[in-house]
Amino acid sequence: MSDFAKTKSMFHLPEGLIYLDGNSLGPLPKHAADKMNSVMLDEWGEMLITGWNKAGWMDQPTRIGDRIGRLIGAEAGHVVIGDTLSIKVYQALASALEMRPDRKVILSDSGNFPSDLYMAEGLIASLNTGHELRVVAPEDVAANITEDVAVTLITEVDYRTGRRHDMQHLTQLAHAKGALTVWDLAHSAGAVDTDLSACNVDFAVGCTYKYLNGGPGAPAFIYVAPQHAHIARPALSGWLGHKAPFAFEQTYAAGAGIERMRVGTPPVLAIAALSAALDIWDMVEMQDVRSASIALTDQFIAGIEAHCPMLRLASPRDPNIRGSQVSFHFEHGYAAMQACIAQGVIGDFRAPDIMRFGFTPLFIDAHDVDEAVMRLKEVFDTELWRAPEFQVRSAVT
Ligand SMILES: *Cc1c(COP(=O)(O)O)cnc(C)c1O
Repeated sequence: MSDFAKTKSMFHLPEGLIYLDGNSLGPLPKHAADKMNSVMLDEWGEMLITGWNKAGWMDQPTRIGDRIGRLIGAEAGHVVIGDTLSIKVYQALASALEMRPDRKVILSDSGNFPSDLYMAEGLIASLNTGHELRVVAPEDVAANITEDVAVTLITEVDYRTGRRHDMQHLTQLAHAKGALTVWDLAHSAGAVDTDLSACNVDFAVGCTYKYLNGGPGAPAFIYVAPQHAHIARPALSGWLGHKAPFAFEQTYAAGAGIERMRVGTPPVLAIAALSAALDIWDMVEMQDVRSASIALTDQFIAGIEAHCPMLRLASPRDPNIRGSQVSFHFEHGYAAMQACIAQGVIGDFRAPDIMRFGFTPLFIDAHDVDEAVMRLKEVFDTELWRAPEFQVRSAVT
């Protein structure tokens, strides 16, 4: 059984604050500072260039990849970290498209995160071979998996509403029509019990600074299924994805399996912080995280509906099709979220009117949920959000 009281004690959580935004940026693991300090002084400082071998820096992308892989149901040796999620989307999509040369459609949905759609547009423009990005409503994805679809590019959990797609079903449909699947796990990894292997997913990508708590700008990850890992051509053919980087050959030859999805030098300092976060993830089972998350989100929905009737639920009520976040519509959502933050409950706002709250059992418990509901009740009972200071918009919402 996962011990969530223990994991909670391992995070730096500012006094008096209830942090319901771990879905955007996870909090700091207490021992991350020591870990980074040690990598800086003992490894970078003392070992200098020899750290690549002595401290094992060069193998970190696959070693860390496997620790993430356990949380998303990936086979060992099939996840590697590096770059940012946008870049990994491009990489996975480019590889998948090349494996379906006779087809020209990338199918995505309007609930997808804009960066995924932008990367697809950019790739299509660069290829200039007549590809089309077809964006349909989330509920219409299944019906639009037709025989001209090369690849589906779907984010499992919608960043605005928390609606969870049926990965197994959609992957099956795609395969039945001869299409490949790229799944974005930005709001799945560390949030829900995704099982890539059981679902037979072809490619998956995700980031580590949201639910996984790797720190701002922490590296992304990419998964390639065993049957494709030795076939997929990496569109970004950097030297560290070469089969022998230190042979410094003039022409590119892809590395073995997932190694080929590496591009350039791994971010060793950022990996130190991510590795500290994974020390905590190593202590829990995703099934326990998922059931605790469902209990917390159910509790929050019931509390808000009882005490803040002006908020309208934007997330699915059925926990089986909901991720680990709860969103509500409110016309003055931006100002209201600023008022909530002033009351010590941090969530975030997504245009046009969504107030979003994320729940991570690793550091949020039932008491926090009750307390958050009471503080929100105060904000709405007193219409605190009408105060002028809450109307000013910052760049990051
Ligand atoms: C957060 C998020 C991103 C962000 O990409 P970065 O390159 O890490 O900035 C991309 N896609 C989805 C679905 C996201 O939720």
